Amino acid sequence: MADPKGFLTHDRELPARRPVDVRIRDWREVYEDFPAPKLTKQASRCMDCGIPFCHNGCPLGNLIPEWNDLVYRHDWREAIERLHATNNFPEFTGRLCPAPCEAACVLGINSDPVAIKRVEVEIIDHAFAEGWVTPQPAARRTAKKVAVVGSGPAGLAAAQQLTRAGHDVVVFERADAIGGLLRYGIPEFKMEKRHIDRRLDQMRAEGTEFRTSVDVGVDITAAQLREEFDAVVLSGGATAWRDLPVAGRDLKGVYQAMEYLPPANKDFENSPINARGKHVVVIGGGDTGADCIGTAIRQGAASVTQLEIMPQPPAARPGSQPWPTFPILFKTESAHEELTDGGGDRVYAVSTTEFAGDADGNVRALRLVEVEGPQSGFKPIPGTEREIPAELVTLSMGFLGPEKGALLQDLGVDYDPRGNVARDKTYMTNVDGVFVAGDMGRGQSLIVWAIAEGRAAASGVDRFLTGETALPYPILPTARPLV
Ligand SMILES: Cc1cc2nc3c(=O)[nH]c(=O)nc-3n(C[C@H](O)[C@H](O)[C@H](O)COP(=O)(O)OP(=O)(O)OC[C@H]3O[C@@H](n4cnc5c(N)ncnc54)[C@H](O)[C@@H]3O)c2cc1C
Ligand code: SF4
Repeated sequence: MADPKGFLTHDRELPARRPVDVRIRDWREVYEDFPAPKLTKQASRCMDCGIPFCHNGCPLGNLIPEWNDLVYRHDWREAIERLHATNNFPEFTGRLCPAPCEAACVLGINSDPVAIKRVEVEIIDHAFAEGWVTPQPAARRTAKKVAVVGSGPAGLAAAQQLTRAGHDVVVFERADAIGGLLRYGIPEFKMEKRHIDRRLDQMRAEGTEFRTSVDVGVDITAAQLREEFDAVVLSGGATAWRDLPVAGRDLKGVYQAMEYLPPANKDFENSPINARGKHVVVIGGGDTGADCIGTAIRQGAASVTQLEIMPQPPAARPGSQPWPTFPILFKTESAHEELTDGGGDRVYAVSTTEFAGDADGNVRALRLVEVEGPQSGFKPIPGTEREIPAELVTLSMGFLGPEKGALLQDLGVDYDPRGNVARDKTYMTNVDGVFVAGDMGRGQSLIVWAIAEGRAAASGVDRFLTGETALPYPILPTARPLV
């Protein structure tokens, strides 16, 4: 145990965010550095619980008390070994995960939880800085070939595990760069892309091959894929977006979030869909909406308003969401701070009824109405209709599952009742040798779940190819968050 009195002596502390007026002038990550002595204090707050609920909160089963203790003792080398034992990419989760481990931390029952995520990211950043993250090529090759379709966190985790198990792995990606939503969904100010690139360098050196701009199912048919490879992992994400079929939806200037964010991630300053000087409305109150807000502000929007149909969530855990569940709370992400500092608004319990356009077919305004809660089916409240200026609108209302395009059709995979690709306990679909991992099988989820699924699916593939496996299997496909 780190320090038996650490949790009594030290309060939870996180690094400061850079001042809003400074950070919105660039695209770099928003957090300041966190001095080592402060981090040691944070690690010392861990109580090394007899039953560490943080383990249960994390689908990867991260060995959290162990690395808290190691950081407290400055044994960084061993800390990264323990962290990498369960997580291929702590630099992604340490920056981007909403940290269900912290929601489940025992200290959170009557105090603030351990700053687990901060400790995690400092361990991996330290390891990269020291040159400890080196390629781990397989000791022996199997001559079995595996295709991984989709290069998000699920595909990358599966690919790294399978390459290290000795298989010849090719990752196919239809975008022009590897990373899935990490690359073209999540903006630079949340995670700088250099973190993806340096991990890919390690993976290439281990022997994983990457082929970009290949739309599998079109550029390579399902039949060709099956002929060339001994096994296939489908990790194409849940990219079918939810739309808003109201009058005026076809006006110019109304985009899906995933139409708006990728070009901004490619060219920050000169994205062809640009918010500069425009009144921007972001529909949807989740993480994707926050990413649109931060992007629009950095592009120089005249104003930004975020709309959400659900009522405003509570600031602290209500009795209906007790520890150790993952509560839905009113969060102030960095983008929200930037929004309110700039005079923007987060409006809850409203529904968009119509978009109004100008003579040239450009969106000009958005009409909305206040609504009752979900129990009433979001019944409009008469007399609350109003119009707000809207020259660029982004729809961030979630995703409906995988696109059922040529690849899935030609393979002939089955779907579960929610429309995701169905799989058995080994992550294999109904098609022999074709596996599925990440959002494509689970539905829209989180990076940490995608990595856990990629690792678990890799063990299924390895056993399928060789008859046995030593690869870890962190979660069942049916495992769900503690809510
Ligand atoms: C804007 C946004 C922000 C988010 N922010 C967070 C966050 O902060 N924290 C968090 O934990 N989660 C976040 N999420 C969710 C998280 O990104 C996803 O759960 C995760 O990326 C899913 O990983 P995946 O590997 O299953 O799929 P994805 O990351 O979606 O990757 C799938 C890849 O497959 C490719 N592909 C699909 N079909 C084909 C094909 N036929 N041929 C070749 N390639 C194909 C796609 O181009 C894509 O690159 C966010 C999601 C969005 C949309
Ligand atoms: S639950 Fe919290 S205090 Fe307990 S071991 Fe995990 S991180 Fe430490």
